[in-house]
Amino acid sequence: KSRLDIDVEELAGQIQDGSRTSLARGITLVESNAEHHFQKAQQLLEKLLPKTGNAIRIGITGVPGAGKSTFIEAFGTYLCNLGHKVAVLAVDPTSSLTGGSILGDKTRMETLARNPQAFIRPSPSGGKLGGVHRKTRETMLLCESAGFDVILVETVGVGQSEVIVRDMVDFFMLLVLTGAGDELQGMKKGIMELADAVIINKADGDNVAKADKTRREYGRILHFLQPATKGWETKALTCSSLYGTGISDIWRLISEFEHSTQQSGVFAERRRLQTKEWIHSMIMDQLQFSFFHHPDVKTLLPKAENEVISGSRPVAAAVDELFKAYLGL
Ligand code: GDP
Repeated sequence: KSRLDIDVEELAGQIQDGSRTSLARGITLVESNAEHHFQKAQQLLEKLLPKTGNAIRIGITGVPGAGKSTFIEAFGTYLCNLGHKVAVLAVDPTSSLTGGSILGDKTRMETLARNPQAFIRPSPSGGKLGGVHRKTRETMLLCESAGFDVILVETVGVGQSEVIVRDMVDFFMLLVLTGAGDELQGMKKGIMELADAVIINKADGDNVAKADKTRREYGRILHFLQPATKGWETKALTCSSLYGTGISDIWRLISEFEHSTQQSGVFAERRRLQTKEWIHSMIMDQLQFSFFHHPDVKTLLPKAENEVISGSRPVAAAVDELFKAYLGL
């Protein structure tokens, strides 16, 4: 009998009662690439859905070395001390390609990991059915149903992962380093336009004055960019994750953001759009899965590939034949 061969009803109850073991087991179910686990995971989510949606979802990105894990350790501990329950998830853009991980390997956030009010989960790997995107979103829902009211989703600033995380959170912050004069010039405008706040980390010791200068530079630039959230002017703040300074200001800013976007309706509207986008991307995933697992497609595909590679058949004609087989035409 497999470890995941479980009673969904019972598991849902245990997760809502706050059992961490059950939450971890639920997440393992959601992350599994096995078809029968997928069905079970969906049943589980359906049971838990009424309990979801009540957390503030916060995305955090930045280059390696910016201080993301140090920041999350400080910020998460601060929030736990305020009485919040904090779940930390990661989206590792490399894990689906290599099976390896740039976020999960080193021992990180040791203090937070021991905090009974915190829950840390490394990035899932991709696999066939939907990949990291779906798994992280579903894990987020499981955490919410377990009573976690702050969800932190961390990602490294590589390629598409910021956009993926932006699409699943309410508030998105970019962690940067001081003395970024040149870096600032070269920094992709695109990523700054995803952010609701730019946090200049490591504002401590000799670095304080430089950090403040960097903050003003960012402030100037942000002023001319498209804001990520309608009606919200993206702010630049400094903090020291190592010494804990500025951490409370960041939380105050997020609370302000939540309040003002709730009032204006932008908060709910973003969640609606995100859900719609999620449906569409799931449809794409399912279509892809069902196509490549169709028995006729599986039979015809190797032959079609060979014909195209050897130059005896145009690509579009081969694809057309495969789709006809898939649709039973
Ligand atoms: P990540 O790769 O973005 O997760 O960055 P880490 O959190 O691993 O931090 C990279 C390095 O910067 C580590 O040596 C940290 O100790 C250091 N660091 C992180 N935050 C601060 C800070 O606020 N002040 C100082 N002085 N160092 C920091």
